[in-house]
Amino acid sequence: MMARTPDIEKAVEVLRTGGLVALPTETVYGLGANAEDPVAVARIFRVKGRPPSHPLIVHIGGAEHLDDWVQEVPATARLLAEHFWPGPLTLVLRRGRRVPLEATGGLETVAVRVPDHPVAQALLSAFGGGVTAPSANRFGSVSPTTADHVRAELGDAVDFVLDGGSCEVGVESTIVDATGDIPSILRPGGVTREDLEAVLKCPITVPSTSQVRVPGQHPSHYAPRARVVLVEPEKVVAEAELAQELGHQVGVFLPPSLTDASVKVHAVVALPASTAAYARGLYGFLRELDQRGCDLIIVSLPTEEGLGLAIANRLRRAAGPRPTV
Ligand code: AMP
Ligand code: MG
Repeated sequence: MMARTPDIEKAVEVLRTGGLVALPTETVYGLGANAEDPVAVARIFRVKGRPPSHPLIVHIGGAEHLDDWVQEVPATARLLAEHFWPGPLTLVLRRGRRVPLEATGGLETVAVRVPDHPVAQALLSAFGGGVTAPSANRFGSVSPTTADHVRAELGDAVDFVLDGGSCEVGVESTIVDATGDIPSILRPGGVTREDLEAVLKCPITVPSTSQVRVPGQHPSHYAPRARVVLVEPEKVVAEAELAQELGHQVGVFLPPSLTDASVKVHAVVALPASTAAYARGLYGFLRELDQRGCDLIIVSLPTEEGLGLAIANRLRRAAGPRPTV
């Protein structure tokens, strides 16, 4: 669904008056505020229940505006911006003075991205400034990929929801630290490692998933209500049926190679064959199994190539230990 111009005008008005706008991007829906308004930015953290030390991404309308938001743009960052913007790549660079410390969790670096979604583009161009936005969900839970997900999760806590249909990519952006000469991946996402390496003409490092970057951040993230358990691909069916027999309401992600199998569990998601479709559907599948009343989700990790790297990263985090309350 395409947002109408009156919706864009309304969203701009909300941003200008310090409000929060949920906006569609090609990755997931964001919870946006005027990046230069520290009070509005602080509200994002309150609404999400996100620790203030956890930095946000500043969304801008085009690569030509990058120099307004950062101190310097190293040649490698320029190359990556030229190749992948607009698109699901976030560059971490040295913070320019326009960016308040509230948006960077107190860091002297800032994460910047140009989203590739017509509604986000229309909003950024009509607004003229930067929109800082994390995913439009409560901290730690599954990211929203439709406007309905946002409404269900945040309700009245967001002042206006721009509806731009379902997100095409479905997982968050790839975050690259581009402050130095040798870039590294901080979080795998919509731009694949292979695509980055083809442009950089050298290998790029990816952190191990267990690495927790931000102080106070819990290992569990992107998590549905149901507990997520990772098992080897050949054990998915047996483990799922066993857990169901033991009294759990089990949901299972069934790989395409097993779609013929009849699995005696509460709910089955038949995974699509392509990793792009898997990434697009991932968060919706997790939400669906929650809605169907599952308390346990059994899944195996995909091969960590292409978008499989980002999917595996999100599933590992979803399966991470939960905070005890
Ligand atoms: P989210 O918007 O919730 O998908 O998360 C934004 C991600 O960007 C988080 O994983 C942050 O740790 C990361 N991030 C944002 N700014 C920076 C920064 N200056 N340095 C390193 N990571 C950042
Ligand atoms: Mg998020």
